[in-house]
Amino acid sequence: MTQKKIIILGGGLSGLAAAYFCEQQKQDYALFEKEEKIGGLCKSHYIDGFTFDYTGHLLHFTNDFAKKIVFDLLAEELTEKTRNSYIFYKKKFIPFPFQQHLGYLSENEKIQCFIDFLDSYFTKKNNYKNFEDWALTFYGAGIAKKFMLPYNLKLYKYDLKKITTDWFGAYMPQLKLYEMLKSLTIQKNQYCGYNSIFYYPRQCGINQLITAVSKHLKNINCRAVVYSVNIQKKYIEVDNQKIFYDYLINTIPLPEFLKLLIPKIKNLSAALDKLEYTSVYNINYGIETNTANKLHWLYFPENKFQFYRCGFYHNFSKNMTPYRNQHSAYIEISYRKILQNINDLHRAIKNQFFDFGVYNKKNSKIILEFPLDIKYAYVIYNKHRKKIIEYLSDYFFKNSIISIGRYAEWNYSSMQDSIVTAYNKIINLNK
Ligand SMILES: Cc1cc2nc3c(=O)[nH]c(=O)nc-3n(C[C@H](O)[C@H](O)[C@H](O)COP(=O)(O)OP(=O)(O)OC[C@H]3O[C@@H](n4cnc5c(N)ncnc54)[C@H](O)[C@@H]3O)c2cc1C
Repeated sequence: MTQKKIIILGGGLSGLAAAYFCEQQKQDYALFEKEEKIGGLCKSHYIDGFTFDYTGHLLHFTNDFAKKIVFDLLAEELTEKTRNSYIFYKKKFIPFPFQQHLGYLSENEKIQCFIDFLDSYFTKKNNYKNFEDWALTFYGAGIAKKFMLPYNLKLYKYDLKKITTDWFGAYMPQLKLYEMLKSLTIQKNQYCGYNSIFYYPRQCGINQLITAVSKHLKNINCRAVVYSVNIQKKYIEVDNQKIFYDYLINTIPLPEFLKLLIPKIKNLSAALDKLEYTSVYNINYGIETNTANKLHWLYFPENKFQFYRCGFYHNFSKNMTPYRNQHSAYIEISYRKILQNINDLHRAIKNQFFDFGVYNKKNSKIILEFPLDIKYAYVIYNKHRKKIIEYLSDYFFKNSIISIGRYAEWNYSSMQDSIVTAYNKIINLNK
């Protein structure tokens, strides 16, 4: 193999989706993945009969095309679930989303949040200086200070005044006055937000989607670390060989990709410093228990819990644990750059896990602990991002390089976005 029309870097969902559409379009392509197995963040891990993903990887669809592709691939193997998720706040379980369930707060807090909402509602701005400004003025200071700000600060571990607002459109819906009035009652507003309904594979975690796609693919190379990309001569170096391309599709994280380029881009180290991100340390538990738990996931805005979210795999599919009296959970702890004192962290998290009232040490025992580290989990939309991405998109376009996926595009995108973007890019190569 010395020449391919299309070379795809990375075998996560984005790369595999690109390969899938290359197959459909009968394109000459080859994909290179550095790990032993394909899947990237959509891999699942099978340990002693438990299945663990890289935390919850649930399929949400707002795009019919992506939904059809996934349904064609998995058909009867998908289950549909209605979200059962809460915010754990002052020892109470407030249904998610917080802003639509003010009725579950104390009388004082409920009134305070509603008055602040009205205040912001009638003085609505169109421009927000930053995330903090948006949170304080979009739903009002009450909701911002009780949930939006502490939760996002815990997640991003980054000054919220330095995060821009050009990314969360669909994730943070505008609320009507009647919706806020309804939120004052004790009534669960089940079907609100982008993730109120989700889909999940029945048998073996989110990796089942990867297995289903891979059955359609021929030119996948694993254990193939791409160590340089010559953009002028249009070849990659992998396994001690040069492979020339017409088009290069990149899905590997942008900071890693930039380091591979020959010639180096101008001011590489300055650009790398500005591409900021938050990492996630994911502790997975196998649990033996005689308690009932039908929850999907919980949010934790308060500081006494070091994790920002915790979810329960066994409620996505009963096949995620080996036996019926066993449950499984994922804990998400964010960090920036370096995570210190990992042993102490594991001990502290285990105690905190028994502190929110779903499990206690008398009725439940953690029988398995399986940590995973996600380096580039959340891209930070700082003030530099837009400019750098615009510059690079233009530079890549001129050099026949196409970026697909959350970490190559450096954005906040999901699995469905990987599929839609891959399709649009591959189709356009034919035009
Ligand atoms: C905590 C968390 C929770 C999430 N939950 C959801 C969810 O519920 N629903 C949802 O839709 N999305 C979710 N996502 C987003 C989802 O994970 C991503 O959108 C998707 O997995 C991105 O896939 P990708 O292929 O673009 O990237 P990746 O999965 O990162 O794949 C990139 C691949 O490139 C490979 N690679 C890197 N360097 C090289 C090299 N030099 N040579 C060859 N190969 C290389 C890597 O090994 C990897 O396999 C979540 C993300 C996180 C972090």
